[in-house]
Amino acid sequence: MDPLIQVTPPGPRARAVLERDAGVVSQSMVRAYPLVIERAEGTNLWDVDGNRYLDFTAGISVMNVGWNHPAVVGAVREQVGRLSHAAFLDFCAEVPVRFAEELVGMLPAGLDRVYFSNSGAETVEAALKLARHHTKRKYFISFYGGFHGRTYGALSLTAAKVIQRKHFGPFLPVVHAPYPDPYRPLCPCSGDECALDAIRYIKEEIFRTEVSPEEVAAIVVEPVQGEGGYIVPPRLFLRALRDLCDEHGILLVADEVQSGCYRTGRFLASEHSGVVPDIVCLAKALGGGLPLGVTVASDEVMTWPPGSHASTFGGNCAACAAGLAVLSVMREKGFGERVTETGEHLIAGLQGLMERHRIIGDVRGIGLMAAIELVRDRGTKEPAREERNEILKRAFEAGLTLLPAGESAIRFSPPLTIRPAEIDAGLAILDRAMEGY
Ligand code: PMP
Repeated sequence: MDPLIQVTPPGPRARAVLERDAGVVSQSMVRAYPLVIERAEGTNLWDVDGNRYLDFTAGISVMNVGWNHPAVVGAVREQVGRLSHAAFLDFCAEVPVRFAEELVGMLPAGLDRVYFSNSGAETVEAALKLARHHTKRKYFISFYGGFHGRTYGALSLTAAKVIQRKHFGPFLPVVHAPYPDPYRPLCPCSGDECALDAIRYIKEEIFRTEVSPEEVAAIVVEPVQGEGGYIVPPRLFLRALRDLCDEHGILLVADEVQSGCYRTGRFLASEHSGVVPDIVCLAKALGGGLPLGVTVASDEVMTWPPGSHASTFGGNCAACAAGLAVLSVMREKGFGERVTETGEHLIAGLQGLMERHRIIGDVRGIGLMAAIELVRDRGTKEPAREERNEILKRAFEAGLTLLPAGESAIRFSPPLTIRPAEIDAGLAILDRAMEGY
């Protein structure tokens, strides 16, 4: 197999594409790396100059079953040869129906009706409209550091980076609450206490001074915070949120766009807490690389009338054929258990790196949703943002693709099919990239 790259990309062919890209594509779409990808397979990417990269990004948690899984490719080829599109507004086709049936069969009981769209943000938009329609209430609560997409409703919930919101307001009426971050807790506390603090804040600050609970349609939460830094809250958090919602007739919306589809070792990350949300948003990995998003709720909650919400491409036949192949791969015996085991291997490796590099202040994760947080001083926890960016650049130049998250974290979200030996190979590159830190 051709070697991982060891030189500074981009090469000549990539440079030519990047120049054209800069000339024609909206500059709002920033790229993490000057990487012009040509093909991909399993955990490997190849650029247009023939360089190979080991991939720890899975295309932002999309390629959970591995890049270009043969079952997905075959299913899409076959489907497109027969029928690529049937607008849900006009005709029914069997593929999306079968996909919805199989998906519902993999979700906790009570999540049994599926709304189709094409992206994460759209799944959130649908959740917001559904929650307002069902509760006849106007307000929402979401969390600082949360990312839910960039369309207006989703962006109103998003509070990850200033640049994402600045100059785009006014927004929907959303009140933001602190997310329980065990590494950076609101008050000095640990474990479940940190989760209860976050709930106390909603009850005692938000409900008393900002909005009364009877006006809140939904609380929207990532069961593991993604873009905000791969933050794993104490297990009690989701359970306590569920109780709070039940007490006040508020709907609990789990945005599992990034944490879902076995990323954490269970189909939904909320399953780790034994909590069934009222509404679940899934996208990214669901279509195995094709645009497919769903908003799932119970029959009792999904009460909006015919014609009240829809989209031309929602339930696209090719995307649903890909989705069916993804689900069948995920149903293979031991799929989730392997994610858990490989995740434990990854965390152990990261803990090893923490012993060797003082810049690592925290190692966290669940399944293959893991992160290290880089700090200038383990005592003050001052974020080491520039150092993080330099380490990512060095790792990339040595052939490993990684993504940042939050202020100064590096996230690890490889294809879930990654082998322990590939994890070791990637961590060896990272180890070298962290030399001197
Ligand atoms: N919700 C979460 C939790 C996400 O991580 C993302 C994307 N990173 C979105 C929503 C938005 O998804 P999309 O980019 O497909 O609109």
